[in-house]
Amino acid sequence: MVRFQDVHKSFGAVEVLKGITLDVPRGDVVVLVGRSGSGKSTALRCINGLETVNGGELHVCGEKLHDGKTDLRKLRQEVGIVFQSYNLFPHLTVEQNVTLAPRKVMKVGAKEAKELAAHVLAQVGLSEKAQSYPEQLSGGQQQRVAIARSLAMKPKLMLFDEVTSALDPELTGEVLRVIERLAKDGMTMVLVTHEMGFARGVADQIVFMHHGKVWERGGAEMLRAPQTAELQQFVATDL
Ligand code: ATP
Ligand code: MG
Repeated sequence: MVRFQDVHKSFGAVEVLKGITLDVPRGDVVVLVGRSGSGKSTALRCINGLETVNGGELHVCGEKLHDGKTDLRKLRQEVGIVFQSYNLFPHLTVEQNVTLAPRKVMKVGAKEAKELAAHVLAQVGLSEKAQSYPEQLSGGQQQRVAIARSLAMKPKLMLFDEVTSALDPELTGEVLRVIERLAKDGMTMVLVTHEMGFARGVADQIVFMHHGKVWERGGAEMLRAPQTAELQQFVATDL
């Protein structure tokens, strides 16, 4: 579903991704971990075209991305992304927030949009909040609405960048459980998280990034038996 082949990315003179090679098979959950500045968000943003790569090849949903001919609109329909900040429209209800893009982009009719909202709000456990406004919801609930908003575009792939970092600890679990359920339902996902326990539980593959490179990768057991001194150190300070 996603294939990085020696992908390079620079901002000006600074090379941030120094040859990333990585495969995300359909239905798999890949978790990116690593220190601040190691390139996790940049790698994620390349996948849905928020950043363009400077070298190597990146294939997403069967299309090669860096040739300038990428249909970004189609790509972003297929690839949902959820960030730390959820950016819901305050003047729209939950249902309106969730159905805005499907109605505008996919020209979904009013009745179908309502059904779609009901479906994706059920997926995130917020069926009863359809008519609420964002300010009436907790941070965790707002983040779940943001996830529902992405799901409403029927993505083939979901990206999550530290979606629980801005939340109080007691609200983190409800968001992580939604992501776990999506994983169980077979959604292909790439996510960045500092929640190591969660990463171990949900990941088919954990990728430790260090200085813009894939330093070490493996299954959940990798975090228990790091091969490199860098991962050893990361695990020791982060767990
Ligand atoms: P964090 O855990 O803090 O979110 P990260 O692993 O996600 O870190 P990135 O956000 O990918 O790291 O950033 C990697 C490097 O690229 C950092 O040194 C950052 O300053 C730099 N960088 C990221 N975006 C830009 C940009 N738009 N312009 C210039 N430099 C950037
Ligand atoms: Mg980041």
